[in-house]
Amino acid sequence: MRTRNKPWAKDRLAQYPQYAIASPEECRGKWASIFGNDHPIHIEVGTGKGSFITGMAKAHPDINYIGIELSESVIVTALDRIIEAELPNVKVMNVDANDLEQFFAKSEVERVYLNFSDPWPKTRHEKRRLTFKSFLKIYENILRDNGEIHFKTDNQGLFEYSLTSLSQYGMTLLYVSLDLHKSGYEGNIMTEYEKKFSEKGSRIYRLEAKYNA
Ligand code: SAM
Repeated sequence: MRTRNKPWAKDRLAQYPQYAIASPEECRGKWASIFGNDHPIHIEVGTGKGSFITGMAKAHPDINYIGIELSESVIVTALDRIIEAELPNVKVMNVDANDLEQFFAKSEVERVYLNFSDPWPKTRHEKRRLTFKSFLKIYENILRDNGEIHFKTDNQGLFEYSLTSLSQYGMTLLYVSLDLHKSGYEGNIMTEYEKKFSEKGSRIYRLEAKYNA
């Protein structure tokens, strides 16, 4: 995603601490009290501009959603969407997914969404792919038993890599679609990338997988 650097983004995030978590380390183990309920927590890693997370939060008021995004210039758009929708069940954090265990205790999260993650096609960059085994370990350490990963992408190579990576890790595949938009799957909420690539005719791949307790 080519995004203009927004030097004011940090200040804007700081103005809305009810939506943009300012000190995520302090939230570890306390998410139920932060949301004010014990609804399940679903996180999206690499949330981008937030269409998916805000759409999901509107559609599922009994789930709490947290968008994780490395780029403050990108996540500030997600913040604007949340402010406009006045949603009580969604927050964002401007952090690196490598550090998720600092922000969530074991079993605090029920589901991880990965949408259109950067493909990092070069073999030497494999460790940066969000479905690499070290990331699968991080997600496992914050998910409850039988927690799930739901993954969508337009990138066939990354999808094939992810099917192998998740299977080799010992996860069980629950759902695989090689053409989501023609699959009859109901309740799909589009991401920004999904809209852009599907309008250009790209096929969308999707999987659901669970960790085995
Ligand atoms: N999910 C959105 C969508 O489908 O429209 C955005 C997809 S974009 C290709 C990938 C996003 O993941 C970028 O905004 C990038 O900054 C973010 N990202 C990549 N690695 C990350 C990491 N380690 N931690 C948090 N965010 C990350």
